[in-house]
Amino acid sequence: MIGAGHAGLAMSRCLAERGIDHVVLERGLVANSWRTERWESLRLLTPNWQSRLPGYDYEGNDPDGYRNMPEVVAFIDRYAKVIAAPVELQTRVTSVRQSDTGFVVETTRGSWQCRAVVLASGACNLPAVPVVAEAVPPQISTVTSFGYRNPAQLPEGGVLVVGASATGIQLADEIHRSGRPVTIAVGEHIRAPRVYRGKDIEWWMDAAGILDERYDAVDDINRARRVPSLQLTGSDTRLTLDLNGLSAIGVRMVGRLAGMQGSKVLFSGSLRNQCALSDLKMNRLLNTIDEWAANNGLDREVEAASRLPPTQVEAEPPLQLELVGSGIGSIVWATGYRPDYSWLHVDVLDRKGSIRHDGGVVSTPGMYVMGLQFLRRRKSALIDGAGADAHDLSDHLLRFLHDGAVVG
Ligand SMILES: Cc1cc2nc3c(=O)[nH]c(=O)nc-3n(C[C@H](O)[C@H](O)[C@H](O)COP(=O)(O)OP(=O)(O)OC[C@H]3O[C@@H](n4cnc5c(N)ncnc54)[C@H](O)[C@@H]3O)c2cc1C
Repeated sequence: MIGAGHAGLAMSRCLAERGIDHVVLERGLVANSWRTERWESLRLLTPNWQSRLPGYDYEGNDPDGYRNMPEVVAFIDRYAKVIAAPVELQTRVTSVRQSDTGFVVETTRGSWQCRAVVLASGACNLPAVPVVAEAVPPQISTVTSFGYRNPAQLPEGGVLVVGASATGIQLADEIHRSGRPVTIAVGEHIRAPRVYRGKDIEWWMDAAGILDERYDAVDDINRARRVPSLQLTGSDTRLTLDLNGLSAIGVRMVGRLAGMQGSKVLFSGSLRNQCALSDLKMNRLLNTIDEWAANNGLDREVEAASRLPPTQVEAEPPLQLELVGSGIGSIVWATGYRPDYSWLHVDVLDRKGSIRHDGGVVSTPGMYVMGLQFLRRRKSALIDGAGADAHDLSDHLLRFLHDGAVVG
């Protein structure tokens, strides 16, 4: 197993249950990503009850709360101890190659031979930044959501936040409140109320089976794997943070960042459409929830159905912004993340650098992957999704070890 995040640990627990001898190689400490790669104010956007791992449910007295980073680290750390996962810490994998008997895994602490390998090294190892970032004038300081920790890191003055999914709106809100006027460039995003009809939106999606939807049951799985995360935030007040909320505190919205022309940033004219589409997708999700509630006799038990007002967009949002001299001192790229497979020397990557796999079963026999977006289910990249995927894939891996071949 490569990686001791929650996905690697869930798989470790399932392999142990099946009597499969294994080791988990981790370049840092358990839950390394949560310790070293997240901003300080981040809280999970999934409620506490929803972080269920094999043999390990939430037992505290705040099931509807949202963990902060130290709490997430403590939770995953405790899980590694409870399941007595065989983790080798501070062991960075530097190369994985095929051999006659399986795989050779080179690390900073020696080499390992194995018949099967599970890549649980994470989907968010590097920031995904558009190429246009290279054209930003050197006077403007830039940071990605990967390197961002808090607003004090940014120079005084205006900030352009690029991206309006969960990360972008949270950072825009925090930075604007620090006294640095924010402009947010809005691309594809999906708006969602934090609480709907008195219950957390995640509760509804879980109960209605939306998060359990399988990868082989959706029309276009490649598209489904690229859909951005819901525009949500975790807070004590269970606040819905959306573009209307940001506008209300003075954040300025512009369209998707389309390019640079000298020191000018160009925005697409699609802001109104992007917002209308996002409202539409949100309302479609809420329609599905309402239908499910009606069919399951919940209508009388929960609050009445309602809809948020449409996203307000100014009549003529600017299509360009002069960076130098306009008061913008920095750009925050909240444009997503990507995995790092630079150490993987097995022919399993497509031309975009994504792993070729069928629900986590990689195209090279004996290799598996965990923790990717919509790997086997809509919830696969969530903490709550690792259990079911690890269960399925460890069954497959067991059959592979017995039969010496890939079986369905
Ligand atoms: C900003 C952000 C917010 C999120 N919020 C939520 C949320 O609210 N709820 C939720 O359920 N999920 C959330 N997620 C999604 C998801 O839980 C994370 O992506 C999660 O970290 C993925 O778990 P993982 O175990 O697959 O990967 P990771 O937690 O990234 O674990 C991978 C491990 O592999 C190790 N590793 C990587 N490369 C090597 C190597 N070469 N050698 C050895 N070890 C290596 C890393 O050090 C790391 O410990 C969030 C993700 C991000 C980025």
